[in-house]
Amino acid sequence: MTGKYEILVHEVGPRDGLQSISTLFSTSAKLEWIRAEAQAGVRQIQVGSFVPPKMLPQMADSAEVVAQAKQIEGLTVSALVPNLKGAQNGIAAGADQLGVVMSVSEAHNQSNVRRSLNESLAGFSQIVAYRNEVEADRKTVISGGLATSFGCTISGKIPLADVMALAEQLVARGADRLSVADTVGYANPRQVRELFDELFRTVGRDIPVGAHFHDTRGLGLANVCAALEAGVREFDSCLGGLGGCPYAPGASGNIVTEDLVFMLESMGMKTGIDLDGLLTAREIMQRHLKGEPTQGTFAKAGPPLGFVPASAA
Ligand code: ZN
Repeated sequence: MTGKYEILVHEVGPRDGLQSISTLFSTSAKLEWIRAEAQAGVRQIQVGSFVPPKMLPQMADSAEVVAQAKQIEGLTVSALVPNLKGAQNGIAAGADQLGVVMSVSEAHNQSNVRRSLNESLAGFSQIVAYRNEVEADRKTVISGGLATSFGCTISGKIPLADVMALAEQLVARGADRLSVADTVGYANPRQVRELFDELFRTVGRDIPVGAHFHDTRGLGLANVCAALEAGVREFDSCLGGLGGCPYAPGASGNIVTEDLVFMLESMGMKTGIDLDGLLTAREIMQRHLKGEPTQGTFAKAGPPLGFVPASAA
């Protein structure tokens, strides 16, 4: 998945960031942002989610955004779906990858997608079967999501065994990859290392595994380092940390794309992403905001003197 670069940075701002702010982005504003990030070298972007428009008006144009983003050369276009209906719409729109949302925490799953975890798993099997039926080449990648893997705002601590059980279920039901999320920003680096070590023991290393961290309590990039040590090579992030945290007003949400890229590149890990290009994309995104705050320190401080990104070396 990561190709000639060592790390895949998966920008999720046009979905995760936008769904938690009130300013409604037009289709053209989303595409301006997406094009600028692709131009900077970002190779995979989550551009929307296929949910009923009544639930999330911000995502109502996802089919159009996917179709247009697909015109961008070399870009892997991903989207989020909660159920079979969403997956059917996502495949029809031409998404390259669909992330299927479900939570390790039963209570969180109920409140987020209004079904039991068993119902979500049955839905996951239906999605894989549908994809296999309509696509002989199985080209749409189906990603199994494990939200609240590190803790839950309703249930508190999440047993590691529950995370492993869900991962095994998803793999058995045909997941092409897994995405492990610290949905509410509870994780710490030791916990991250332990979880991914155990996950690779459980599902092996043939299946790609991505990590989705939040910076709610300032540990986002420390958690990335711990996941890197465990062998994770794909990370979700959000330009300018857009969106914040819906559970803690004022706190950061998703880890910041430009800070993540700076850290990786300064550690000698190639992302293929140009930091100046990312800052340009950040300005473009900010132009469309109406007072929503952005996060991130690289945009304020700039690179250190003599900094040579790994991708440029
Ligand atoms: Zn997130």
